[in-house]
Amino acid sequence: ENSHAQPVEVPKDKLLGDLLAPGFDEGSCQSRYQSLLYRRGVPQKASSYLISKLRSYEARHKKCGPYTSSYNKTVEDLKSGRHSSTPECNYLVWISVSGLGNRILTLASAFLYALLTDRVLLVDRGVDIHDLFCEPFPEASWLLPLDFPLTTEFSIFNQSSHQSYGNVVKSNSTESAPRPYMYLHLLHDYDDQDKLFFCDQDQAHLQRIPWLVLKSDNYFVPSLFLMPSFEQELHSLFPDKDTVFHFLGRYLFHPTNAVWGLISRYYEAYLSKADATIGIQIRVFDVSPGPFKHIFDQILSCTTRESILPEISQQEGGVVGSTTTQKRRVSVLITSLSSGYFEQIRDLYWENPTTAGEVVAVFQPSHEIHQQSEKQNHNRKAWAEMYLLSLTDKLVTSSWSTFGYVAQGLGGVKPWILHKPENHTVPDPPCRRAMSMEPCFHAPPFYDCKARTGIDTGAVVPHVRHCEDMSWGLKLF
Ligand code: GDP
Repeated sequence: ENSHAQPVEVPKDKLLGDLLAPGFDEGSCQSRYQSLLYRRGVPQKASSYLISKLRSYEARHKKCGPYTSSYNKTVEDLKSGRHSSTPECNYLVWISVSGLGNRILTLASAFLYALLTDRVLLVDRGVDIHDLFCEPFPEASWLLPLDFPLTTEFSIFNQSSHQSYGNVVKSNSTESAPRPYMYLHLLHDYDDQDKLFFCDQDQAHLQRIPWLVLKSDNYFVPSLFLMPSFEQELHSLFPDKDTVFHFLGRYLFHPTNAVWGLISRYYEAYLSKADATIGIQIRVFDVSPGPFKHIFDQILSCTTRESILPEISQQEGGVVGSTTTQKRRVSVLITSLSSGYFEQIRDLYWENPTTAGEVVAVFQPSHEIHQQSEKQNHNRKAWAEMYLLSLTDKLVTSSWSTFGYVAQGLGGVKPWILHKPENHTVPDPPCRRAMSMEPCFHAPPFYDCKARTGIDTGAVVPHVRHCEDMSWGLKLF
């Protein structure tokens, strides 16, 4: 007789060391409190300062969230073009653009900026944000209401919008009557004036504006660490500088039940019983779709050199010790838009034994062929695959890919990064171990706000340096 729900075994630290707030309805978002069931290893601990900052953020979000009286009043001011000098709440609106990995990274960056500037983060739901992520904050939605007055302009905002901060600077009107809103253009094509966003003097102007509307496709956190006004606060929030995305990601991004179904069914079927799990994320930025021989050779060269995949034996014969000894089971999870690499690696371990007698299972959840970021089911799978990769013990990622950054950051692992091939040849060395699990900021500014000259922003402080996979990018160490 099993008609009553059994009390589920409550996992010990389902709040991830108080990173998560208690009190959410567990059924409506199973992943929130179940995710730790699939994660191996000892979880990192967030600083008590970050935890208290998150709790006070949640209180602010509840006070200022959609359709609260503060929200309604600030929206009224926006509609009428009034500028109230002391609004109760100030907002940051995040606009959904670009592929899913990029969106996850910019959303985390936007949230950190909101934490640092006491703003309330509201997200443009795009076509599928609500279908992919549970609500992260208790008792108040983070989704921007559909009747928000600027929504119709979101798709029009671009580098030349006269409401952008960069263009306001160019027209010399930062000191004139403060505006009810400002558009922050932090996309990869932003110019020198847009980049002044990363200067303390300019933040002082922005501080007075109740609505900031942001478009970005970059993980811009590293440059926030170079701003003197945020330095002390960031140091207290993140004593370990290379855990920023890890903690913000674990805090913000909980797969919805639909996506959690994809993740948990796959995990239970293919990963849970393995003694060791390996994730290989293959992202090829090439005009033709592949598969390419040089990429396959590169993967094998990397995983052999670094002893990531079990060594292939030249001898023939069955699995060694098949009746008596327990065989080590290795599960290899491959993600790629193409199925070609997976098929070759799977066949390799079918056609050959391994020297140490491991049993190697190789699989790939989907092969969607093309990026189709506007399709719901496609993005569900992309999110599930990033998450599954984050659950593996050892991770191999591709250069320049935000898809891989999300996996390494959520997983809290330093991946081996496959170098970007030139001229269709295998790079030498084929890969290297990342020095930190943080994502790379692909389009950082190179400007010294005080001296008003160009500088190498990767050489200012020891914890912000150039990325392993992109020489001009910046990341936290
Ligand atoms: P990036 O372009 O590698 O930085 O990653 P993004 O996630 O921003 O954009 C790539 C998009 O292409 C993903 O969001 C997916 O829609 C799709 N994509 C790329 N690689 C894969 C993959 O291995 N699996 C799946 N399911 N989708 C992928």
